[in-house]
Amino acid sequence: MNAVTDSLQFRSEYPLQELNTFGLPAVAEYYTEIHAADQLEQLEQWLKRHPMPLLLLGGGSNLVLADRVPGLVARILIRGWHRSDLSASHVRLRVGAGENWHATVEKSIEQGLYGLENLALIPGTVGAAPVQNIGAYGVELKDRVSAVEVFDRQEQCLRDLSPEACRFGYRDSLFKSIEPERYIITAVEFSLARQFTAELSYAGLREGLGNDPVTPKRVFDTVCRIRREKLPDPTEIGNAGSFFKNPVVSAGQYQQLQHRFESLVAYPDTGGYKLAAGWLIDQCGLKGFSLEHVGVYPRQALVLVNLGAARREDIERLARHVQQMVQERFGVRLEPEPRFYP
Ligand code: FAD
Ligand code: NAP
Repeated sequence: MNAVTDSLQFRSEYPLQELNTFGLPAVAEYYTEIHAADQLEQLEQWLKRHPMPLLLLGGGSNLVLADRVPGLVARILIRGWHRSDLSASHVRLRVGAGENWHATVEKSIEQGLYGLENLALIPGTVGAAPVQNIGAYGVELKDRVSAVEVFDRQEQCLRDLSPEACRFGYRDSLFKSIEPERYIITAVEFSLARQFTAELSYAGLREGLGNDPVTPKRVFDTVCRIRREKLPDPTEIGNAGSFFKNPVVSAGQYQQLQHRFESLVAYPDTGGYKLAAGWLIDQCGLKGFSLEHVGVYPRQALVLVNLGAARREDIERLARHVQQMVQERFGVRLEPEPRFYP
């Protein structure tokens, strides 16, 4: 069935294989594309007439989809880039949820606005970035956000949420785990600096930069280079980035583990110590390991990859194996980072 409501088009049995970076052969029961925030009322009216679950889709880079995705998939393609002065030192930048994240980082640097350099080359859209509070090389989205513009499905209106209201945590937010069905993110507002301050707490980035003067463009280029060396390009090898979150353990558990494993990689964190999940997996001898159509990426053990023709259950099977091996060796439970839907 192909129905048309005003300007929104609803397609049925829509293939999503090209729209998720794992390349899983999912098919949506219904599918539509949202190009402007004022189309969201139409979307809600359609859902009132045809009650069904709604999955919001950005770049599909943090999703593990089943073969059949029941209900409606709405791909958010809202564009826009508005800058205004905030203070002598900072500029406010409001970017549409459907803009590409990496292109936004690149453009902000070109315009002399600083703060997003360390988050270069993360796939996906601006609108999905607050969902798991994306982070890399010591910077998280929450450090640079001044507001998140949402369509509130409960109140049926557009409004701005403050960073505090978004309840950002480590790879977590209001949108991911507290009220995942309530908000459609339509734009993100950043507060970016006119003066560059480098965030170089990660040794990998410092080493990659070498001894030459540190400029925003060099940080951006270095992050891109390191990531290209370590991570599989989803256009060539299907993946969803880090498959597991870094587990946080108590100080007591950390000390016991450190006693047993001298080279344990861990960092102090609120509530205890954050263990490098990639190191745990590597120590289990799983780098390069594969199970049918899915493998552990040889250059980065935290990434599971589609070796061709993988389906959701293949990924689940390998993820369970990795979890079991890590649990047996270290007594630590690894939790997946991407969203499994449904
Ligand atoms: P999708 O996968 O389409 O959606 C992710 C979630 O957000 C879903 O629950 C979806 O329903 C929801 N969502 C999407 N759009 C909206 C919206 N407008 N409003 C409300 N909810 C919405 N992540 C990091 O944090 N750091 C990294 O360094 C990093 N590196 C990666 C490297 C690779 C190679 C890959 C493949 C992934 C990586 N990721 C990383 C994960 C991923 O890129 C991010 O989570 C990204 O923000 C997902 O964006 P997306 O548009 O693809 O979201
Ligand atoms: P890395 O630099 O080799 O570091 C390994 C792990 O140690 C990372 O997981 C990182 O935690 C942690 N770490 C390193 N230095 C740290 C410090 N100074 N303080 C606190 N924690 C520290 O990691 P990598 O695999 O090459 O990735 C580089 C960055 O890109 C990381 O921030 C990583 O999260 C991010 N990334 C994320 C994804 C994703 O899909 N989520 C995919 C690829 C890369 P954190 O992960 O908490 O930063």
